[in-house]
Amino acid sequence: MATTDPTEREALRAKYREERDKRIRSDGNEQYVQPTGRFAHFLDDPYIAPVPREPRFDDVTVAIIGGGFAGLCTGARLKQAGISDVSIIEGGGDVGGAWYWNRYPGAMCDTAAMIYLPLLEETNYLPTKKYTYAPEIHAHAQRIATQFDLYDNALLSTEITDLRWHEASARWVITTNRGDSIRAKFVSMGTGPLHRPKLPGIAGLDTFGGHCFHTSRWDYDYTGGDAQGAPMNNLANKRVGIIGTGATSIQCIPSLSRDSGELFVFQRTPSSIDIRNNHAIEPVALGELEPGWQYAWLTNFATLQTGGFTDVDYVKDGWTDIAQRIRDRIVAAVSEGAEFTPELALRCFEDSDDDKMNAIRARVDNVVADEATAAALKPWFRQLCKRPCFHDEYLDAYNNPNTHLIDTDGQGVERIDETGVWVNGEHHELDCIIFASGFEVGTDFARRSGFETTGRDGLTLTECWAEGMQSLHGMHVHGFPNLFIVSISQAANLISNVTHNLVEAGSTIAAIIVNALDCDASTVETTRAAQDAWIAKLEGNERGFLGNPECTPGYYNNEGKAIGRRERLNGSGYPDGPVAFFAYIDAWRNNGEFTGLTFG
Ligand code: NDP
Repeated sequence: MATTDPTEREALRAKYREERDKRIRSDGNEQYVQPTGRFAHFLDDPYIAPVPREPRFDDVTVAIIGGGFAGLCTGARLKQAGISDVSIIEGGGDVGGAWYWNRYPGAMCDTAAMIYLPLLEETNYLPTKKYTYAPEIHAHAQRIATQFDLYDNALLSTEITDLRWHEASARWVITTNRGDSIRAKFVSMGTGPLHRPKLPGIAGLDTFGGHCFHTSRWDYDYTGGDAQGAPMNNLANKRVGIIGTGATSIQCIPSLSRDSGELFVFQRTPSSIDIRNNHAIEPVALGELEPGWQYAWLTNFATLQTGGFTDVDYVKDGWTDIAQRIRDRIVAAVSEGAEFTPELALRCFEDSDDDKMNAIRARVDNVVADEATAAALKPWFRQLCKRPCFHDEYLDAYNNPNTHLIDTDGQGVERIDETGVWVNGEHHELDCIIFASGFEVGTDFARRSGFETTGRDGLTLTECWAEGMQSLHGMHVHGFPNLFIVSISQAANLISNVTHNLVEAGSTIAAIIVNALDCDASTVETTRAAQDAWIAKLEGNERGFLGNPECTPGYYNNEGKAIGRRERLNGSGYPDGPVAFFAYIDAWRNNGEFTGLTFG
């Protein structure tokens, strides 16, 4: 296995630095515009109109905030544990969370469906493709809700406006935009890491006279077509612009290119696009699955993806490939007599990454005919600096004569006016602008979730976490009794398969609530000491996901701004990695002691 030539390596690093430096900006996260005030309509639900209903003022045992996979996994585990008085409260008109909102054409999971779709064995369902499209994923969310009776008592099209602990009654009081005031003994919060859309901070954003929407609120009434892939015929005579080229944009551009009269893609930073190789799942292989298979697959993927060793790779995809390349290099070097040191591991990581990124850049040249377009589509950063993307039709779209890449050389769109978009002093007239500009990450808790949470003595979660997240296991916060946060941070932090974290969190919450009810406890809360000890453990950890300041800016590295204690805490994970965390938490919840919690 070749080591990158030192001169080549230095040239590559210099190019990476040059491209990064072009993109650094002093406003970081603040560049983005929140969908509030005159932009609030960007949050409207285009899919299901709220059904009129009377406000609710009842008491529930467990309120689950958010009907995405976090809420559904928790709800399912609670129901399995015999707790039936559960109420999901969800802003969308149905369950599904990200998969309710993100119906843009071409949306599909980026992690293999056999491990991404939670509770497959419990629901007796198997996905049809290795990477399934959004409608199938949304249908799976509905399947979980139906099977575990989670639609009963659910409040859909209901936005929480305030969540507040009431000490005297030991209840959470949940206020909503539908006039509800619900009291809950326990609250599980699964609002998702990428929940609230954000808009690009471009001058003149509100002056555009044509049509515009965010990708997470796709306006099929305007475009025609549907989430199942029917052609968007209304775009046939339209000049369509899409701003942003992240994971979302990559997935919807092939359909937009197929259906738009003219398509203009405004790019600030190209994504890395590796091979997808999607295919139908073979029934023969499925027949070989034994009970417990999904747990085995989950563990196998998590092990391989985080640098561990197993004899077999069930998933075999771009995620496990990254880790396997690094591991193979280390094994080869050690078998040739090298000593295993952190320096060796780092060199193997860098060499593997150089190989991978060279292959990704070569692929652009092989697919995209126009040389200037191909050059502009090449990513100059390490693969894990930004969300790695995988697609087999995205690059081809630029060979369609109607599809124009408008590269901004890292600077972003200059200005929007009534009739279109300005880049490099050139005006591009448009009928429609689609904002593929992502979601709030790394901002204050209330800004990300859309409401404030106030615990004991009036302390808000935003205040409590102002200097960085504080928790035990990413789930319990001192001063916020009976509240369970479903988070990947400060827990396993397995980014490559988010739902794995959620299934485990659901099991943990169910175990704690069962215990609290069994011992007739009115409160369960982490002690300050346990929380502090957990934070100290995490802070001794160098393997946090967020935070490579050498990377090109993005939400993985605080948009290129300084990474301090706050950012490190917000992006930290269990020091020994995700697989070790899952083993640790399994033992923790099963030994009946719930160390670090007090049941009052
Ligand atoms: P991202 O935040 O990844 O992308 C936003 C895009 O908007 C970037 O390309 C950004 O450029 C660009 N942008 C922002 N401001 C401007 C501007 N002023 N001018 C021009 N361009 C601008 O959002 P996505 O919705 O694409 O993805 C968010 C995350 O959602 C993913 O990282 C992934 O975790 C998840 N996702 C998962 C999928 C799956 O699992 N199937 C599918 C889609 C998304 P720049 O890069 O320079 O900042």
